Amino acid sequence: MRLPFIFARRFVAAESVEETLPVAAALNKKGLHVTLDPLGEYISDRGLAERARDSYIGIVKSIAGSDRDIDRNISIKLSMLGQKIDESFCRDNLYQLLDVARQTNTFIRLDMEGSDVIESTISLFETVHSEYPESVGIVLQAYMKRTKEDVSRMCELNARVRLCKGAYKEPAAIAHQNMSVIRDRFCEYMELLLAKAHYPAIATHDNILIDQTKAYVQTNRIDPSRFEFQMLFGIRPDTQVAISKEGFNMRIYIPFGSMWLPYFSRRIRERKENVFFVLKNLIRK
Ligand SMILES: Cc1cc2nc3c(=O)[nH]c(=O)nc-3n(C[C@H](O)[C@H](O)[C@H](O)COP(=O)(O)OP(=O)(O)OC[C@H]3O[C@@H](n4cnc5c(N)ncnc54)[C@H](O)[C@@H]3O)c2cc1C
Repeated sequence: MRLPFIFARRFVAAESVEETLPVAAALNKKGLHVTLDPLGEYISDRGLAERARDSYIGIVKSIAGSDRDIDRNISIKLSMLGQKIDESFCRDNLYQLLDVARQTNTFIRLDMEGSDVIESTISLFETVHSEYPESVGIVLQAYMKRTKEDVSRMCELNARVRLCKGAYKEPAAIAHQNMSVIRDRFCEYMELLLAKAHYPAIATHDNILIDQTKAYVQTNRIDPSRFEFQMLFGIRPDTQVAISKEGFNMRIYIPFGSMWLPYFSRRIRERKENVFFVLKNLIRK
């Protein structure tokens, strides 16, 4: 049985790209940057992976062809391009997407998924980044114990990295579980990326981490144009605008599409207050 979309609409902009573009344009008008995230993950069928590739390409073209002047920036998941089927098939699909991204001056962010695909995502990124350095970026998760090495790898490439805590359930053997340890690691990597990588994205709703980032850039005289904050659509919308008004770049990650259940479930699991937001949406006219 499929839950009706009304459950998801606090965190998911819409079910189609056509309905999502006005949402993105409205956020752009408020001074916020956007990245569109076509939902869907972990497919195991070649035909579906090709359909996902074509759909990603269609979305890039829709944004570029829109008369609304929307940021050309999307976030995708390699597991939708066949990563779990065959890495070289996935790489070929990614190359086709990046060709169109380059032609349309669009930035493609490779979201990071579960630990089963981290190494594969990083090595595919390294392969394509050498050919499309301006068009592609990656995500690193502060909770993974391996991430210090990955941060060094990405600093060496001068890559564009989004730093987040990490949203998947991972075992203690490979991922920190304690929030204060995760925050400490996050701050350590935030400082390294700000000092040594290209235009990092600090993706969090956590005031402690936002304040530490602001303090670090102020002490080290890092210009706000050299990095951005990122938050998720529907989470702390007033804070998103407030941070942008302080003079920082703020990008909103806008999920959309019909395959919203896994994304929605991660948001609900993350914070019990999110259940309240969903219930409030259900009764909102
Ligand atoms: C733009 C973006 C992209 C992401 N991409 C990925 C990805 O590719 N891979 C991945 O694994 N994960 C990704 N994530 C998810 C991320 O890993 C975390 O799971 C998620 O952001 C929750 O962690 P947090 O630091 O935002 O805050 P949390 O740990 O959820 O909350 C910490 C504190 O922040 C404050 N806070 C949080 N929410 C609210 C609220 N609604 N109102 C008031 N205060 C609040 C509270 O003080 C709370 O105690 C992404 C997150 C963002 C923002």
